[in-house]
Amino acid sequence: METDKSGLRKKIGLLGGTLDPIHYGHLRVSEEVYEVLGLDEVWFLPAYQPPHKLSRNLTPFIQRIEMVKLAIKDSKYFKVKDLEAKRNGISYSVDLLKQLHTIYGNQYLFYFILGADAAIDIESWKEWQTLPFLATLVIVKRPPVSMEEISKKFTAIFPDAFITRRPMAIEKQPAIIMLDTTALDISSTNIRKLIKQNRSIRFLLPEDVRNYIMKNGLYMEQYTGKVCRANANNDLPIEGIEAARCIYKEIQDNKGERIVVLDMRSISPIADFFIIAQGRSTRHVQGMASRMKKDLSRKKIKCRSIEGEEEGKWVLMDFDDVVVHLFYEPVRAFYDLEGLWSEAPRLVMTLEGLRPEERYEK
Ligand code: ATP
Ligand code: MG
Repeated sequence: METDKSGLRKKIGLLGGTLDPIHYGHLRVSEEVYEVLGLDEVWFLPAYQPPHKLSRNLTPFIQRIEMVKLAIKDSKYFKVKDLEAKRNGISYSVDLLKQLHTIYGNQYLFYFILGADAAIDIESWKEWQTLPFLATLVIVKRPPVSMEEISKKFTAIFPDAFITRRPMAIEKQPAIIMLDTTALDISSTNIRKLIKQNRSIRFLLPEDVRNYIMKNGLYMEQYTGKVCRANANNDLPIEGIEAARCIYKEIQDNKGERIVVLDMRSISPIADFFIIAQGRSTRHVQGMASRMKKDLSRKKIKCRSIEGEEEGKWVLMDFDDVVVHLFYEPVRAFYDLEGLWSEAPRLVMTLEGLRPEERYEK
C-alpha cells in the first residue's frame, strides 16, 4: 500500500471534465484544493466522451491530453491520466471512480473535485447516489450557483453523508466538502468563443496551451472551410473581394456608419476580409444584421453563423471569406478591433470596387 510520510493512505484529488481546453479556472481550484486539504497529488482526467456534451464536436482526446500535459508541466504534484482512452463510448464519473478502485484498490483516498455548476445537476448523473462512497466529493465555487444552494441540496439528497464547509480532508466516506475557492470566471466555452471571434485568449490559460491551440488551429473550425458560392445570375463563384464589396454596399444601404474594411489575408487564416461598422442603437444593429442576412442570401452570399443578435450590442456575422463585426456605437471603442488589427491593410470603396487605401508616411 502506498503511503505518505505519516504512514497514511495517499490522498489524491481528481479533476475530471471535458477540459476542452484546460484553463486557469481548472488549475487554480486544483491548486487550492491540493493546498487546503493537504493532498499528495491531483490527477487530471479528461473525459473521452462526456454524457452532457454529445452534441458538440469535441477536440480529439489526444489533443486535450496534450494540452493538460503542457499546462501542468511545471508542477510536481499535478498528474495527467489517460485511463479514459480505453473507454468505448460515453464516460460516466461513476464508472471512472469504480475503475480507479479496481486498478488501485485501497492504495489511495480519492477526492473528486467538481465545480458548483456541475454539482448542482448531480441527480442527473448515472448512479449518483454511490458517488460519495467512491470518493469524497469536493465542491468548489463556480458562480452563479451559490454554495448555499449546494449546501441545501446536498444535505437533502445525501442525508447520511458527512457534509462540511471546513477545509479538512475527511477520510471516512460518504463525505462532501464544500470549499470557498477563488472564483475565476473562466470557461472553456468562452475561450472557444473568443477564438472563433479572433479575439485574445491570453491570460485565461497557460501560454503553452495557448500556443498549442494556435499552432494546431483548434476551435476555429467554423471559419476555415472555404466554400465556393454561386452568383445569383450566372452561378459563378463570387470571389472574396467581390463578396466584401456586396456586403459593404448592404451595410451602406442599411445606414451603417464608419465602415472599415481590413484585408486580413496576410494576417490571419480565419477570413480574407473583416468589415467593421456601427449602428446608432442596438435596434439599428439588430435590424441591420437581420436584413443583411436575408438580402445577401438572395445574392448567394450565405451567412454561416451569427452571434450577438439578441442583444444587438455587437453582432458577429460569418460569411466565410468575409467576417462582419457590427457594433452599437459606444461598444465599438471598447473592443477597438481596428487597434487590435492595426497592421492589417485597409481597403476603401472606389468606383471600381474595394481598393487598397493609400497610406502616406509622415
Ligand atoms: P465548458 O464550458 O466546455 O463546459 P468548463 O470550463 O466548464 O468547460 P469543464 O471541462 O466542463 O470546463 O469542467 C471540468 C470541471 O471543472 C467541472 O467540475 C467544472 O465545474 C470545473 N470548472 C471548470 N471551470 C471552472 C472554474 N472557472 N471555476 C471552478 N470550477 C471550474
Ligand atoms: Mg463545464
